[in-house]
Amino acid sequence: MTPDLIVTADTVHTLDVARPAATAVAVTGGLITAVGDRRDVAGWRGAGTRVIDLGAATVTPGLVDGHIHPVLGLGLTRGADLSAVRTLDELTEALRRAQRDEPGEWVLGWGLNPNAFGRSPITHEPLTRAVGDVPVFLLMFDAHAAVASPAALKRAGIDGPREFAGGATVVCDGNGVPTGHLLEIPAYELVQAVLPPQGPAVRRARFADLLHRMAAAGLTAGNAMDFEADSADLVGHLDAADNAAGGLPMRLRFAPFCMPGVTRAELDDLVDRQRSGGARWRVDGVKFMIDGTVDGGTAWLSSADTHGESTVPFWPDPAEYVWAAGYLADRGVPVVTHAIGDAGVRYVLDALSGTRRGRVPHRIEHIETIPTELVGRFRALDVTASMQPTHCTLYTSADHSDNWSERLGPERARRAFRCRDLADAGARLALGSDWPVAPFDPRGVIADAQLRRPHGLFDAAPVLPGQALTAAQALHGYTTAAAAAAGLDDVSGRIKVGFRADLSSFGLDPLVAAPDEFAQAPVPLTVVDGTVVHRAD
Ligand SMILES: [Zn+2]
Repeated sequence: MTPDLIVTADTVHTLDVARPAATAVAVTGGLITAVGDRRDVAGWRGAGTRVIDLGAATVTPGLVDGHIHPVLGLGLTRGADLSAVRTLDELTEALRRAQRDEPGEWVLGWGLNPNAFGRSPITHEPLTRAVGDVPVFLLMFDAHAAVASPAALKRAGIDGPREFAGGATVVCDGNGVPTGHLLEIPAYELVQAVLPPQGPAVRRARFADLLHRMAAAGLTAGNAMDFEADSADLVGHLDAADNAAGGLPMRLRFAPFCMPGVTRAELDDLVDRQRSGGARWRVDGVKFMIDGTVDGGTAWLSSADTHGESTVPFWPDPAEYVWAAGYLADRGVPVVTHAIGDAGVRYVLDALSGTRRGRVPHRIEHIETIPTELVGRFRALDVTASMQPTHCTLYTSADHSDNWSERLGPERARRAFRCRDLADAGARLALGSDWPVAPFDPRGVIADAQLRRPHGLFDAAPVLPGQALTAAQALHGYTTAAAAAAGLDDVSGRIKVGFRADLSSFGLDPLVAAPDEFAQAPVPLTVVDGTVVHRAD
């Protein structure tokens, strides 16, 4: 069989213990058909073989983001990127710039860090002060809360407290007047519903652009933690495009949401949807949330935070979560649960301990603060720990002056993002970004996982440096562990004959380079399913 493609490079980390190092990889029909050295190439190649020599670069198995929101994120990243805003003055400036640069009825923004409000409560006041009596809708960085101006609330018909099935809140002052702070998706989607719509053509173009940028950063696959109304349309449209036109530039696994109040019929529908898919995508799993976020006061902690909040689960009756998760698991569906607070993680581990496991292990997302006695249970129960190291490095600080740490208090803030403890305890640790909550670039996540501070910020103190991963642990989190977490460890995650031809490459070796430098390394080539989906000029 003549290979379609041969890639050569000075370093190939196969992550295959039988043959860890190589300098040449041959690909035929979407599969790896030979792993060897440059001198083997002459014997492998045929008339139609494309040979790409990457010189001094390093090739790794294709990187998989454990947790992204590529479709939900299209709606969550409208307007100004506010992720660099650190103070209310900077917020004012950014909103005025947005109003000037993108003139329209609304002022929209996303990625806002609650620390920008400093010690003052999160309300619409700074928004109104900045741009006047116009509708403003700003999503917080964690996509679990938003701030809306009075004009925006008015259009959404929000004029006081609301009742929600899940733990969502329209925050109101002592007189019952909304402050503009909207906690959790059911609350803020009331405003999203009245935003100027984006047509399907715009969403398709933005989706394609996003996936191409992800591929250009070295990602070959992602676990999409949502399945929106138009997900099948967006992904199917790209997947069907022939490869000359691009095709789907990365593999996607979708886990549709299951919300409190779910009926048996809706669960059956979620089971049915597991059959959806195409060449490079499929629905595989169902996403739950047992709690919200520490920053929003909606996490589920075993005792209240310093504001007296984060004491209740997202499911008002958490036993209903156990029933729904068990119902799906009994039908072979992998259960994915967002659990951030210690009580939430404990509850989910307890629930999963009594749950059937199919081909794919169940998983817990985020795991932000847990006591030591929970660390070993991930391996014991064979539950994947899916974590996002940049949530720690970008949104918390070593001196505990940030909102997350201040709410938890010193004891629980010292149990933050225990990546190393979980890895050392033998947990299957999948890494990711949670884009758009944090940047999707895997180079930055791999760097920060080792540094425990933002790459490039050499003066920032590391947050709990004892929780730093080694370079090898970080790379496994994006490759072998990601494959095992998807029940695919016999077909992907390694560069091995018969495995899927998904390859990433970098100008620097992720196992050797200084993490700050690796974060800036070029990405010369990305291959998905044997197809070149990204090639730097
Ligand atoms: Zn998420």
